[in-house]
Order: sequence, then structure tokens, then C-alpha cells
Amino acid sequence: RSGAQWLECLGGALRPRLERLPMAKVCAVFGGSRGIGKAVAQLLVQKGYRLAIIARNLEVAQTTANHLGAGHLALSCDVVKEQDVQNTFEEMERNLGPINYLVNAAGINRDGLLLRTKTEDMISQIHTNLLGTMLTCKAAVRSMIQQQGGAIVNIGSIVGLKGNPGQSVYSASKAGLVGFSRSLAKEVARKKIRVNMVAPGFVRTDMTAHLKEEQMTKTIPLGRFGEPHEVAQAVIFLLESPYVTGHILVVDGGLQLLA
Ligand code: NDP
Repeated sequence: RSGAQWLECLGGALRPRLERLPMAKVCAVFGGSRGIGKAVAQLLVQKGYRLAIIARNLEVAQTTANHLGAGHLALSCDVVKEQDVQNTFEEMERNLGPINYLVNAAGINRDGLLLRTKTEDMISQIHTNLLGTMLTCKAAVRSMIQQQGGAIVNIGSIVGLKGNPGQSVYSASKAGLVGFSRSLAKEVARKKIRVNMVAPGFVRTDMTAHLKEEQMTKTIPLGRFGEPHEVAQAVIFLLESPYVTGHILVVDGGLQLLA
């Protein structure tokens, strides 16, 4: 036999085994440089995922990726910019292979009464929290359809379900995510892509650092703010639950129980 025939023979023998190998678990974590996204990344690494840590500030994303160990990627991307998002997916696929898991934890808040909220702050919250998630989901779904499966978890908020004075715009951006996530879940279920959402209450991160925790914990049934890793556990549960889609998992210390 010629060299080429031997190679063909060898390839043929290996092919069924390669096809049986489980697909590598590659997850894009938008907003993975800090807070809840970083905690998600830390748990995913323990479970053998290869990760892309994505945020606007590359230095912070790189530091987080370095702490996770070798083989993970840090990228700078503003989720509001479609071209940025597309470039990011191309870069991830070049370096890590197809993306079959996506976590959307990039988010901002500009709290204030509506009458005092500037239009630019309304736009930035809706753009980052809602449009940004739509753009990353669009890019991910395109890739997941080719791979015949995948899982997405979007981070919403209890405020998007119940409302909160001083957070009407933020709440609207998160409520929008509910309709988006559930509709997308229906749209892509037949393609074996699952879309779920976690709705946290108050979690100890940079986003809540300005809040007076002692006063606020009086209103939380469990009597404390949540920790990022406690939200991350819920994210991992949804990423890895093969028969759960279109679900909203509330992780709020019991806030939802209140009137
Ligand atoms: P942090 O402020 O700690 O982290 C936010 C992350 O998002 C950072 O990695 C930040 O990096 C990234 N980010 C922000 N804007 C953009 C953007 N335009 N493009 C790309 N990345 C961006 O927030 P949390 O960890 O607290 O919040 C994570 C998610 O959880 C958010 O969606 C938030 O709304 C939600 N949430 C948080 C709660 C809390 O109590 N902390 C409660 C309920 C929901 P960089 O600035 O470098 O871009």
C-alpha cells in the first residue's frame, strides 16, 4: 500500500472513535473578568471547560484568565458593538474551537429615579444589558446550529421580575431579557440549543459596592447579600441540565417571597 492508502486506512479506523469522543466544552463568558461572571468562570474551570473571558477592559480580563490556568483566552469586546462581537467569536473559534456554551454576565446599572435619569444612561443600560445579550446570542446560536447543540445562560435580575423604585430602566432591560430568553429558547429548541436565565437578588460585587448592605439586608429573608459563587452554582446547573430550557432560576435569598 502507498503512504496515502495507509493514512486513509488509519483515518477510517480512527473515525468512529473520534466521532464518539465527547465534544470539548468551550464556554464564552461575557462579563467574565469580574463579579458574577468571574465566579462562573472559576467553577467552569474546575469542571474542565476551556474558557474565553470577555470584557471591555482587556487587562482585567487577562488577569482573570491567567488565574484560571493555562489554555484560556482573554478578549476585549464591547457587547454593544456588533462588529466587536463578531470579531470576538471569530477569534474564540480560531483559538479554542467551536463555542458550545455561552454565559452572558456583562451588565451595567445606572440607578436613579426616572425623572433624574439622563437619556444617555437609559440607552447605555438597554444597550449593554439587552441589546448586548441579543448580539452575543445571535453569534453563538449561528455557531451552535452548526455543532447541532449548545447551551446559553443569560443573567437577568430579580428586579426585572418584580420591579424596584430607582431602577425602572435597569429593570426594563432585565425584563426584556425574560421575553428574549424564553422566545429564543422556543426558537432554537429543535436545534438542541437550550436557553435559560438566572435572576439574582443582591450579590456582593463591584455593582453593589456602593449600597448600604447593613440596611438593605433587613429586607432580605435570608438576611444577607449573596456571594458571586452562589449565583455561579445556579448558572452551572442550567448550563449542564440537558432537559431544562426557557427556565428562570431565581437566586435572591428569598426576595421574591416579599410582596
Ligand atoms: P460587575 O460590575 O462586577 O461586572 C460586570 C462585568 O461586565 C465586568 O466583567 C465588566 O467588564 C463587564 N461589562 C460591562 N459592560 C460591558 C460591555 N459593554 N461589554 C462587555 N463587557 C461589559 O457586575 P456583576 O458581576 O455584579 O453583574 C453581572 C451581571 O449580573 C450583570 O448583568 C448584572 O446586571 C447582573 N446582576 C447583578 C446583581 C448584583 O447584585 N451584583 C444582581 C442582579 C443581577 P468591563 O467593565 O471591563 O467591560
